[in-house]
Amino acid sequence: MAIPNYQDIVALIKKGATIEAQEKIMELREAALEFQNENLALKNTVRELKEAQSLRDGLEWHKPYYASKQKPDEKFCQRCFDANAKAIRLQELEPGYWRCLECKNDFTDDKYEYPSADYEGTGRNQTTGY
Ligand SMILES: [Zn+2]
Repeated sequence: MAIPNYQDIVALIKKGATIEAQEKIMELREAALEFQNENLALKNTVRELKEAQSLRDGLEWHKPYYASKQKPDEKFCQRCFDANAKAIRLQELEPGYWRCLECKNDFTDDKYEYPSADYEGTGRNQTTGY
């Protein structure tokens, strides 16, 4: 939408075209409202980007997850963070075995001891059978 020119509105009033001037003023109001909404949306975007940035600054990549720089024991899901910029804390189900309750992905780190050959477990981490 073209924004009405202030000088044009003044010129319309001077020549007594008040209806046309009023229409231009209404257009001007609508444009102002549009800018206000756009400004609000931009402010929200900036805030979200800043939040994502400070989140990123607070985390370090430690394969296979992100760890908090402040509290290295807190691990965060790689998938949720990379895909959605969400810091989802991982739950340690057993030593070195981590699960994201958001995307349901499991991660194992070097503390995890893989089940021995005669292990009859739940079948997780296996691609076939139970
Ligand atoms: Zn996740």
